[in-house]
Amino acid sequence: MSASLELLDRDCILAGLTDAARALLSRLEVHAVLDSTNRYLLAGAQAGWPSGVVCLAEQQTAGRGRQGRHWLTPSGASLACSLLWRFAVHPAALSGLSLAAGIAVARALQNVGVTEVGLKWPNDVWWHQRKLGGILLESDGVFGDFYVVAGIGINVALPRQEAAVIDQPWVDLQEIRVDESISRNALAAFLISELLETFLRFEQGGFADLAMEWANFDQVKGCQVSLCLPNATVTGVARGVDATGALLLETASGEIKPYIGGEISLRIAA
Ligand code: ATP
Repeated sequence: MSASLELLDRDCILAGLTDAARALLSRLEVHAVLDSTNRYLLAGAQAGWPSGVVCLAEQQTAGRGRQGRHWLTPSGASLACSLLWRFAVHPAALSGLSLAAGIAVARALQNVGVTEVGLKWPNDVWWHQRKLGGILLESDGVFGDFYVVAGIGINVALPRQEAAVIDQPWVDLQEIRVDESISRNALAAFLISELLETFLRFEQGGFADLAMEWANFDQVKGCQVSLCLPNATVTGVARGVDATGALLLETASGEIKPYIGGEISLRIAA
């Protein structure tokens, strides 16, 4: 852990929340070590915990990415945060929620002064095409008793040696803001506030209400991309997203087709 880093402080984070977020938060837990903040809240959800529980961990020993991939969270070097939210709407109406979470993360980063933050469909937080953060939504339940756990990882100051295992371009806040260190507690308060307020907004208006904001952060619009689907790869030009959060891909024939997140990975053509 870098000497200049502050430890997470629950009272300080609570004091930094917006009034709207404080009203939506049912509990905030700060842990020194968890295997995964998502796994912890999924277990809590099964035990009946209410909507609006948020947990943070200084370190994750088994942080999760999509499709079983690993998310590196060394002690005190990142922000690892998960939110449990219970939805009364039909699960089919939750398409685009992962993108909504991305908007919340991007706004929180802007609030601490990170300019040029971008989002790569469907779930990466980018700075100059380098991965600054990741988002993993996991869910369970049935219509009427359905919940989502949204996990966010943001790199604050990753030890170079440990980060050597990351097999794609990445960046941390320490490198972006060399002149001024960013308070992890301030970032946590902004992140939790934005997440809670965005989830409420999504619940009320769906992704359609947030699509314009996505466009402001969209890093792939107009780019030639490949979409790796479970059984095929398709290529074309990304044309933004529709009101459900599906990526609009224009193929060589000029046809524009929507693709919904799930297990799709997007790569920008070199
Ligand atoms: P996709 O485009 O399908 O999302 P991805 O490789 O970005 O693919 P994720 O599940 O989003 O997959 O994230 C996991 C991947 O992110 C890991 O396989 C690793 O390459 C990278 N990674 C792991 N930890 C970090 C970290 N702290 N910062 C940046 N990148 C990381």
